Amino acid sequence: MDLTKGTARMQLYTKILLGLILGAVVGFVANVAGLTWLQAVLISLEPLGTAFIRAITMIVVPLVVASLMVGTASLGDLAKLGRIGGKTVGYYMCTTAVAVTIGLIVSNFFKPGSRIDESTRDALASQFEGEAASRVVLAEEAPTVVETLLSIIPRNPVQAAAELDLLPLIFFTIVFAAAVSVIAPKRRDAVITFFEGVNDASMVVIDWIMKTAPYAVFALIAAVVSRFGLDLLQSLLIYSGVVVIGLLLHLTITYGLAVRFLAKLNFIEFLRRIANAPLVAFSTSSSNATLPVTMETAEEKLGVSKPVSSFVLPLGATINMDGTALYQAVAVMFIAQIYGIDIGITEQLIVVLTATLASIGAAGVPSAGIITLIIVLNAVGLGAQVQAGIALILGVDRILDMIRTSVNVTGDLTASAVVARSEGEDISFRSGGPQARQEVPVEAAR
Ligand code: ASP
Repeated sequence: MDLTKGTARMQLYTKILLGLILGAVVGFVANVAGLTWLQAVLISLEPLGTAFIRAITMIVVPLVVASLMVGTASLGDLAKLGRIGGKTVGYYMCTTAVAVTIGLIVSNFFKPGSRIDESTRDALASQFEGEAASRVVLAEEAPTVVETLLSIIPRNPVQAAAELDLLPLIFFTIVFAAAVSVIAPKRRDAVITFFEGVNDASMVVIDWIMKTAPYAVFALIAAVVSRFGLDLLQSLLIYSGVVVIGLLLHLTITYGLAVRFLAKLNFIEFLRRIANAPLVAFSTSSSNATLPVTMETAEEKLGVSKPVSSFVLPLGATINMDGTALYQAVAVMFIAQIYGIDIGITEQLIVVLTATLASIGAAGVPSAGIITLIIVLNAVGLGAQVQAGIALILGVDRILDMIRTSVNVTGDLTASAVVARSEGEDISFRSGGPQARQEVPVEAAR
């Protein structure tokens, strides 16, 4: 077992956390003390963070294609692929519906919208009026359900890759890999060996990029916090607090139970092992950009096999967004409560359905959730309040986006452990378990 590598990774996690805390503190000081020069310095450092996001996103396409190709083609059993697919999608739908239900329960309990007075409401609504209008336009351009389903089949896989459109890319790669698995063994092995090389090289690139993560995280967080309107947070504190409470409940109860009873792992140890991924998700607000880290974490820290991780995680980054769905439930209730509109049990069931579907439709990029929220608002009859409602909550969206994206990514990793366990994989944390897998050459792992 390569202990040096393990220690280096451990340090990286601590360093990222340090970068995050330091960035938040420096940004906070600049903001509260009104140090405009420091704010300017911090904002000028932001491109360092953006460079990191671009670099890590750069490796998404090669990694997803290579890893899915190796994972699916070496499975050698198409029935198994169907089984993993069924379990994954079923699990994702169930946990998302649970997340929305938790969001509804906490907002019925705390009633965040009834604690805001009319003047604050109108001030917030007018402050973000313009920005909200542009989001509404974006939502109006959103495709219908049939169009979305059709778009899973790419007309041109290269275009899907070029546009980082993951769902059609995943679809094409699986079909292609399934075909590779049934061709003559000599040819099949040549294709698999090629993609194994691409996969291994992608992992090396990720390791290189991750070395800069602590500094990038500092730059990203410091800029966000120093720019953030703290007075805004104050007026939306209860709303933000309710979203956070809901997310924490989902994390500890839903994921805690799933990890303990379905994946049969110690939850605290699980969180400790996967911490890198939610930290990067928090800093980038993007499940897609975090995907390379999520995949590496599942394979190297949890010992999830390639066939499972390469399928469950890219799919999760695209369709599984528990944090986003939960946030949407709270946002709908908050907006309805503010305008004194009664949302009964039927409408709340509609929220469960539409928020679950909307989170599937939302891309794993920053602020995607607030655009699909518009679909949910319309579905429950809050169409007239859409623009003003979005304007109300837009000010704290960035910070909530960071938190919900961490939950989204944690949900994907939880699913990878649950599916791996259900497939009889050894993902125990015993020494020699996941760690030892790092040493297994890809060839032998097949
Ligand atoms: N930023 C989220 C993600 O990438 C999506 C959202 O909720 O806006 O998972």
